[in-house]
This record gives sequence, C-alpha cells and structure tokens, in this order.
Amino acid sequence: MNNLESIVSETIKFSRKIYGDDFIPLHRPIFEGNEKEYLLECIESNFVSSVGKKVDEFEKMVANFTGSKYAIATVNGTSALHVAIKLCGVDRGHEVLTQAMTFIATCNAITYVGAKPIFIDVDEDTMGMSPRALKDFLEKNAEIKNGKTINKITGKVISACVPMHTYGVPCRINEISQICLNWNIALVEDCAESMGSYSKNVHTGKFGELSIFSFNGNKLITTGGGGMLITDNLSFAKKAKHITTTSKIPHDYEFVHDEVGFNYRLPNLNAALGCAQIERINEFLSIKSDLAKKWEEFFSSTQISFIKPLQGDTANNWLNVIRLKTRQERDYFIEATNNEGVMTRPVWTLMSKLKMFDDCQNDGLKISQALEDTLVNLPSSVPGRSLSAI
Ligand SMILES: *Cc1c(COP(=O)(O)O)cnc(C)c1O
Repeated sequence: MNNLESIVSETIKFSRKIYGDDFIPLHRPIFEGNEKEYLLECIESNFVSSVGKKVDEFEKMVANFTGSKYAIATVNGTSALHVAIKLCGVDRGHEVLTQAMTFIATCNAITYVGAKPIFIDVDEDTMGMSPRALKDFLEKNAEIKNGKTINKITGKVISACVPMHTYGVPCRINEISQICLNWNIALVEDCAESMGSYSKNVHTGKFGELSIFSFNGNKLITTGGGGMLITDNLSFAKKAKHITTTSKIPHDYEFVHDEVGFNYRLPNLNAALGCAQIERINEFLSIKSDLAKKWEEFFSSTQISFIKPLQGDTANNWLNVIRLKTRQERDYFIEATNNEGVMTRPVWTLMSKLKMFDDCQNDGLKISQALEDTLVNLPSSVPGRSLSAI
C-alpha cells in the first residue's frame, strides 16, 4: 500500500472486516453483562437517585481497580475535575498549567474556580504534557516567593498543573510529578480517558494529589454519564464527598449545610451501570489490546505511523490513533472514511485557539500544532465478533 487513496480504501475494508456492514462509530458502549439486572435491583429497591448501595459499591470497585485508597463518585468527569482543582488549593485569580491539546472539559473546570489556564506543549510520542516544556516554561517565567510559585510576567500564583493522558496513552507523569514537587505546584491528573492505563505498572491517576475519571457514553466503560475522583489523602476524600453532596451535615431530618456545596452526586441508577461495566473492564482491555495490535499491523506496511505507549507503559487503547504527514492528508483521510460510514476524527482544535482561551499564555505549542494537523482517531469499539480470524 502506497498512495493515500489506496490506504483509505483498504482502511475501510479492514474496518468492515472487524465491525461489519453498518455505520461504524468511533466508540460504542457494550452492555452484555449484569447491567439490566443491577438496574432492575435499583428500580425494585426504590433507590434510583443520589443515595444507594450501588454508589458505594462502584466507588469501592474503582478504588480497588486503580489501587487508590479513596474514590468519590460524581455526576460526570467535568464536575470531578472542578472539585479536584478546587480542593488542591486553586483559587480565583490563580493560574493552572495544562495542555492546549485536550478536551474542553479540562479548561472549563479550571475556569469554574476563577483560574486561568497556561498552555504547555505536549510530547510528540505520548501526545501528553511534555515535562521538558513544563520545566522550560517554569524556569523562564516563574519564581518561588514565600513558598508560592509566581508567574513573573502576570504576577499571578501558579497553583496547579493538570496534565492529561491523551486517548489513554500515559504521558511522562513521573517526570511531571517531580517538577511539580520542585516548584510546589499541586498535581491533578485528568485521567478521563485513561482508566486501565499504567505508567511503569502504576495506574494513571496515582501520581496526582487528586485525579479524575469520566464514564461518559463514549469512554472505555460508561455509566451513561458519570465521573470519579480518586485520592490517597483522607482529608481530600472527606471534603470531596462533602462538597459534592451539597455540604450537608449528616442528620436524620435536619437540613444544615456548612458551606456552598454542589449537587454533583452520581445517581444510584448510573452507579448500577458502572458496577456491571467495571466487572468486565479486564475483558474489554484485553480485546482492545488485540484490536490495537491488528491496527498497528495493518498500518505497518504504510508510511502512516500508529501511536504506541512508551516502553514500559501500558495504554488502555481507548481510541486508536494514527499520524499522517500533512493537514491535507489528514483532511482527505477523515472525509473519505466518514463518507463511507466509517467514523474517524481529528484531534480537538487546540484550546489556545478558542475565543475563551486565546488570551492565555502559552509556550509556542509547536508540537501541539503539528499533532493537531496530523492525528486521526480510528474506530476503536470492542468488536461484536471475534478478532482471531482477522
Ligand atoms: C471526557 C473527558 C472529560 C470530561 O468528562 P465528562 O464526563 O464528559 O464530563 C474531561 N477531560 C477529558 C480529557 C475528557 O476526554
């Protein structure tokens, strides 16, 4: 396979071999386990809303799976991120280091607490925040005064760093964590896309003081809508549970609240879905690993590169990603496949170009721009048929 036209038509044929003749979405959920049974339990018990056994169970299951001490369920990933950023000490007027190459939720959550993002470039291989770019930015632009990291250009406090594990590929989180320690900056990992991804055998999310997952319908496992905060810090865990449940002081009938809280609780119905989904997560991960190998093999005979995790890291293969040579090639590939009912997608428009964030400081974002121009997501659902014959 050489020219792009024939690669595209082979890609369509290959997708059809894996997924069949109907429209092929990027990522669809699979409900073939205990979903119906657990939902019925909720309905029959009358506990469908914000309290119930399934919420507690789902929290325990996520804590176990990720190796975290505490897990706090929320209504979606964005709300979990909002609370994580607030609890780690980010305040109105602060600045938060993050990637320009991420989904909008990361920057929205930073904005909800009255802080402003600073955009750091990503690494070409991981697509996640570059520790070298982070260190360079801080050395050029920041100084520590009275234990606080101050941006010398804006005079504002830089209080947190929110890297993201793009499409489930772990970023260089160990190095980022060390830089944050050196600069006294809180680390919150946006793991919305990286449940089941490991950096040197440690689950992503275990490096930050607080980290979050999303269980939106297109993620690796889903609760319909939902999110989770994880932390090893008991005080953060207690505060997170408190302010996500309206900051109500526990009492049998009196309603007393001790601060402005949020109604960010995950309903029991959604948690029931989550319990059934996470029971199957290892099966999903194993099938998706086989699928990623098939895609990698497919593209190995072309000029197109298939993105893989760093040596020693494990990706959950949430969305498979290829890199083309130019923006023109990217656009052709996406249009030609979508025209045939095979869904492919470019990476998000860089946050630094959106009108809400175009005045935020950035470091040039050379790699981010190059990746925006050339990355394409491939169909990545768990297939309904066996992969062994393909
Ligand atoms: C999905 C996602 C979120 C937010 O999740 P929701 O559950 O949709 O609120 C946050 N960050 C990233 C990078 C995501 O992909």
